[in-house]
Order: sequence, then structure tokens, then C-alpha cells
Amino acid sequence: MVILMVLIAVPSIGQRIKISNAKIITPYNIIDNGTILIENGKITAVSDKNLLFENAQVIDAGGRYASPGFIDIHTHGGSGYDFLDGTVEAILGIAELNARHGTTLVYPSTASCSNEDLFKFFEAYREADKLNVKGAALGGIYIEGGYLNMEMRGGQDPRYISNPTREDFISILNKGGDIIKRWGFAPELPGASELMDELNARGIQMSLAHTAALYEEAREAFNRGMNSITHFYSLTSTVTRRNALRYAGVIEAGYLFDDVYVEAIADGVHLPEPLLRLIYKVKGPDRIILVTDAMRGAGMPEGSEVILGSRSDGITVIIEDGVAKLADRSSFAGSIATADRLVRTYMQKAGVEMIKAVQMITLTPAQLMKIDNRKGSIAVGKDADIILFDNDINVSMTMIDGKIIYSK
Ligand SMILES: [Zn+2]
Repeated sequence: MVILMVLIAVPSIGQRIKISNAKIITPYNIIDNGTILIENGKITAVSDKNLLFENAQVIDAGGRYASPGFIDIHTHGGSGYDFLDGTVEAILGIAELNARHGTTLVYPSTASCSNEDLFKFFEAYREADKLNVKGAALGGIYIEGGYLNMEMRGGQDPRYISNPTREDFISILNKGGDIIKRWGFAPELPGASELMDELNARGIQMSLAHTAALYEEAREAFNRGMNSITHFYSLTSTVTRRNALRYAGVIEAGYLFDDVYVEAIADGVHLPEPLLRLIYKVKGPDRIILVTDAMRGAGMPEGSEVILGSRSDGITVIIEDGVAKLADRSSFAGSIATADRLVRTYMQKAGVEMIKAVQMITLTPAQLMKIDNRKGSIAVGKDADIILFDNDINVSMTMIDGKIIYSK
């Protein structure tokens, strides 16, 4: 009791932080030469004045940008690891790579696999979450696999693709219902409606993924609570012609429903410049979420060979031109993007201003995941998840909850 009182009366220096001389990216403007005050892991002031803050640790931003930390809601791996390796080492290794590139919150993502491997990953996730001190914080798991349209599986393992059944999804929810925060699946599959109702009732965010749905099926899914589209334009249906008639698909549904969010793999490879511009023109920064969707090759040098998928029976692919390619170079084998690159690419290729590019990987994903009361912007009362970078989005410091976990 006595110790507690002392702590309250005299906060230690580590609990009070002042970031000065920063260009602060807020949701509304960029404050030149601004100051951020942080106490006990929360932002307590944001100002264009050089505020006094006694007994505080001072971080001189040196004129760099202070941005909210990036939030990556869809990523599978990096530094040679995949989350589905199912080890604490892999999860922490990927989280650390993310932190070095400005991500402060990450949603580890799965792919089609056996339930045995999935449950092993859940166990490792819980353990890693306790030990994670140098990596991006873990926001919860994104399940992307299993209940996908076989024709739209892309690189996902067909052996583990099936229609949703109550028995199966309840067994998954029984093991990981508390840590699963997002789930991507094809809404046109038999049994998908029941899955939607279950996940909706549990507050798990649902995304149309690897889907050949017609516009009408997508609309029905939105009515049942699905509200985002996974990697827009990758394995998402568009206009098809059956006999003489044309049918709209998931892409068109994504454009027509204003409230629906779309993920963009803005690595400059998966979406060419005109599509980056088109998506931005129609959906805008309030509804686009930049995602890396990265595989093991993220953070690995050009020319590296890495495994796509499981260590035991995946295929070897090559890192070339900033993307993973099949060995015969006939197709891409996944993204190797980091979050900083997505922001840089959207600015450079689509001419989007920094404040909007940053919004698409900070506040907008926080709103989708309903954590924007704590995360996603630099504002009084929010968690001090703050990064510093230069004009080119080279990240030099990453802070989570007021603790510097990376700096160079
Ligand atoms: Zn995917």
C-alpha cells in the first residue's frame, strides 16, 4: 500500500515523455514544430507550442514526422518466418520486423491449414503475447483460410479448403474465440450464413475473402454483418457474363456500398497505379485499409529463396523486384511489403498526400476494428503508439504505450 502511494505521488521519469520538434500528423492537419506529452503510456497533450514538462524524458524528433503507429490487419510473415510455423520464435520474429517498419499493432494472419496446426498457432500466440517486448503489439488473430472458394484459392492449400460447418467453426471458436478478431471467408459457400450469424453475435469482424460471389450474394453478406473485402482485386470476383447477361461481382459491390472497407496491398506490384487511383477515387481514405499481406520474404534481401506456406511441404519461391515469385517466374507468390512501403507507394504512385496515406493504415483500420477510442491517431487520451519517420517514410523510432521498442 505504501509503495503504491509513493508511485502515484512521484511518477518516475520513464513515465513522463516529451516529444519535441516534430511534424505531428493528426487526423486533421500536420502541426509543424509540435510537442507531444505522454504520461503513463497515454498522450496527454498535443500542441504547436513547446510545452514545459518537468521531470520528463525528452525525445527531440529533429524535425521528423511524428505519426500514429501503423496498424496492419493482414499479414502472414516476414524475416523468414510464417505465423503458422506455430512457434513463439516465429511470432516474435515477425512482430519485431513489423516494429522496425513502423507497425505498432499487428493482426497475425493464418492460411488454410489443419485444425491441429491452427490450434498449435493459438497456443504459441498466447505465449508470444506474454513475452513480446520488442515487437509490434498483437491485436488478435485474422483467420484467412479454410472457408474459401476453391476456384479463388490462389496460393492457399486446397487440402484444407472446405465449406463451413457448425461443428468445425465452433471447435475453432472454442479454442480461440477470445483471440480471433477477424475472419475472412467466401460468403457464397453453403453454410456461410450460419457462420456470419455466429461471428456477428461474437463481435468478430468479417471480411469477404477469396470469393467468387455475385453482387447479390455480397449484398446479402453485408446485410449479415460482413463489412470489408480482403485484398481488393486479388481473388475477388468482378463482372462475369453468363449466357447473354452480365452480372456484377464483389468488386462492384465494394464500390457501391459506401460503408464497406476494402484492403489494398499497396506494394506497387499487386495493384498497378491506375487501380490505386481508382480505389482511392471511389472509396477514399476513410474506407481503404493498407495491408501488407506479407509472407516469409518480407524483410529478406533480393535474390533470397524462401518457402511459401508450411515449412514441411511448402514450395520454394524467390524474392525478386520487391515481390515473391514462383521459381519459374510465371506468377507472384505473395507480397513482401512492410507497412512503411505501402504508405510510400500510395504517395508516390497515386499522388496521395501523406496525411491521407497515413490515415489508411492508422485511423481507418482502427475504426474497422473498433479500437479507435484508443488507437489510430495522435490525440489526447489515446495510447502513445507513435513513430518517427522522414519525408521518405524511413522509420527511425517506434513507441508503443509510451515505451520505445525500436530506434536507430
Ligand atoms: Zn489471401
